[in-house]
Amino acid sequence: MLNMAICFGQDDYLSKRKVMVSDQIKARGISHKPTLEAMRKVPRHLFVPKGLMSSAYLDTPLPIGHEQTISQPYIVAFMTSELRPKPKHNALEIGTGSGYQAAVLAEIVDSVYTIEIVEPLGLEAKSRLDKLGYKNVKVRIGDGYNGWPEAAPFDLIIVTAAVEKVPQPLLDQLKDGGRLIIPVGPIPEFRMLQLITRRKDKFITKNKLPVRFVPFTREKNKN
Ligand code: SAH
Repeated sequence: MLNMAICFGQDDYLSKRKVMVSDQIKARGISHKPTLEAMRKVPRHLFVPKGLMSSAYLDTPLPIGHEQTISQPYIVAFMTSELRPKPKHNALEIGTGSGYQAAVLAEIVDSVYTIEIVEPLGLEAKSRLDKLGYKNVKVRIGDGYNGWPEAAPFDLIIVTAAVEKVPQPLLDQLKDGGRLIIPVGPIPEFRMLQLITRRKDKFITKNKLPVRFVPFTREKNKN
């Protein structure tokens, strides 16, 4: 009986995930296949607090503690697809949070380096990603402002907390031809998702979508 109950539960989440991808993501015009496949696969309900598991596939961000949130599925899909991730890519994420976005990327690319400033969140995400078998994700606790120089350069960089100004070290750690997606702007309720493409020493910025994001914070005694 117990096994049947567990099987039924997983099927149930799988079907919720398929509906999430078709109704929230494909229906809004995202057609990048690797992103859609990754989001059909990653068990989002295991990245939210236990009490919110039944809400994991709703069209909304959810609280994950420490005043932080896991982004709305559509925003994860949008940011992932705009980066055009490929299997050989080396990726950097600033703002691990639950680890969900890192897992989605890890389904597509070769390696994901992700940094979280809130220690308990980073530790929790690390153990969750380990348990789920994501061997190609490395989690570091700390301020992501300076990127991850030892693992640079990156084909793609994703920042999931909002900045007023794009951190220069992240631009420096982008490969020629690489892409960076980041919410930018001074007003908390209205940031602009910017896609920045590097062409040698030129950085081409495109405004993509108005969004709300939790703020990028800095470690004390730094500026
Ligand atoms: N990508 C996450 C959602 C991130 S919410 C997910 O899939 O669940 C934004 C996260 O950025 C928060 O957890 C916040 O603590 C973290 N953050 C904010 N400023 C940061 C910084 N300077 N360095 C690293 N992480 C930061």
